[in-house]
Amino acid sequence: MALWTSTEAVKATGGTSAVGWSAEGVSIDTRALRPGDLFVALKDVRDGHDFVAQALEKGAAAALVSRIPDGVAPDAPLLVVPDVLQGLEALGRAARARTGARVIGVTGSVGKTSTKEMLRATLTGQGRVHAAEASYNNHWGVPLTLARMPADTDFAVIEIGMNHPGEIAPLARMADLDVAVITTVAPAHLFSFDSLDGIAVEKASILDGLRKGGTAVLPEGLPVSHILLAKAAANNVPAVTFAAQGADWHIASAQWGEEASAVQAATPKGPRLFRVQSPGRHFAVNALAVLAVAEALGLDPALSAQGLGRWVPPAGRGQRERIVTDLIDDTGFDLIDDAFNANPASMAASLDVLSILNPKDNIGRIQKGRRIAILGDMLELGETELALHAAIAEHPAMASLAIVHCVGPRMKALHDALPKARRGEWVETAAELLPRVASLVDAGDVVLVKGSKGIKVSLLVDALRKL
Ligand code: ATP
Repeated sequence: MALWTSTEAVKATGGTSAVGWSAEGVSIDTRALRPGDLFVALKDVRDGHDFVAQALEKGAAAALVSRIPDGVAPDAPLLVVPDVLQGLEALGRAARARTGARVIGVTGSVGKTSTKEMLRATLTGQGRVHAAEASYNNHWGVPLTLARMPADTDFAVIEIGMNHPGEIAPLARMADLDVAVITTVAPAHLFSFDSLDGIAVEKASILDGLRKGGTAVLPEGLPVSHILLAKAAANNVPAVTFAAQGADWHIASAQWGEEASAVQAATPKGPRLFRVQSPGRHFAVNALAVLAVAEALGLDPALSAQGLGRWVPPAGRGQRERIVTDLIDDTGFDLIDDAFNANPASMAASLDVLSILNPKDNIGRIQKGRRIAILGDMLELGETELALHAAIAEHPAMASLAIVHCVGPRMKALHDALPKARRGEWVETAAELLPRVASLVDAGDVVLVKGSKGIKVSLLVDALRKL
């Protein structure tokens, strides 16, 4: 079944199309374009109009443009609109309007992608699920994800992010949400906001996008939880809370294993048991929100817990892998790839996980070895960034680490704050550490690599994988 016909797309956007076409997908990047896609000529770093000819050559069904690009015949399959981003937004709104899907919006300072993927796992098997493969959570990512939503979708999970005040509400309205989840509110993107209160107000604005009868799933126990709850009350939206003791959904008891957590949650409808296939309290807390969403949608708790149990952390967000360095001697080390993202909340969560992992041999027997952290800068933290980096030295989990290597100008503050016994190398860039990466680990170690994407500690992950 076509995703978009020219007739539907013309109606949705108010644009014009000289010829008829039908598209099976929507793409904004010719490198990822599949034959049959509608190519959207967005203007970002480069102008998408420069790539329309190439897109059509690669088999695009049509292109969404604001002018006929050079080298493209006027009778080519073009959907011409005054503004391409607005055209994409119109497609997103129309896609939402034509489906009977229940749409869940996820925002928060950390944990959006993890929660989105947990929701995907939880809902799969209970209906047709649509969610973006990547973190498409911004002014083009949300409309693109919506525009890609098949008409017969049962559940859509839409991640909504923000860099600046005012971004979330319009995106949430576009998605016309049945359930809105705020994962947590923590220091991140502080350069655009005066305070945590400011961030909370912005996150809470996702509730403006809830349709009548919708539900808010909100974290309890944060210094700013009252701001989120006040917004729900002001909007007259029922709120289900999770996280802290006393919240509607909270952890009554749990077994925190190295590979997984087994949790008994207390909920308004009685106890619920579930398993999360990755260590870390933060993932168990995200899972509370996910199961609360599923119950708000009226889904079967047992099926939901079963689906959730199939979730594993997305790449770069805490995946643990065994690197076998010598097959003959049977030596190796454990690598935790957390190189996609970092801010104080996720840094603390990842260090907590590292602190419970035991060094192991290649067949899983606990052995002598070290817990090592290679930590890159946390970006976008605003004026207090150096203090926030130095404060990591005080995190309780640090006491269980053997050595901490620091990467990036801001991480110099942590390097200086570390006790000498735990202070490893400091380098300004990840590339500087590459030639010496082999000297940082020994057989039996557990190594966490974490930092904001821009600081490229992923280079070190790649190098460690090749040892
Ligand atoms: P981005 O917007 O940059 O994609 P995000 O909000 O989608 O970030 P994730 O990608 O899910 O967040 O996770 C980023 C990091 O935060 C990972 O290291 C993950 O393990 C950690 N994390 C996930 N959930 C939480 C949580 N509730 N509290 C603290 N850390 C978390």
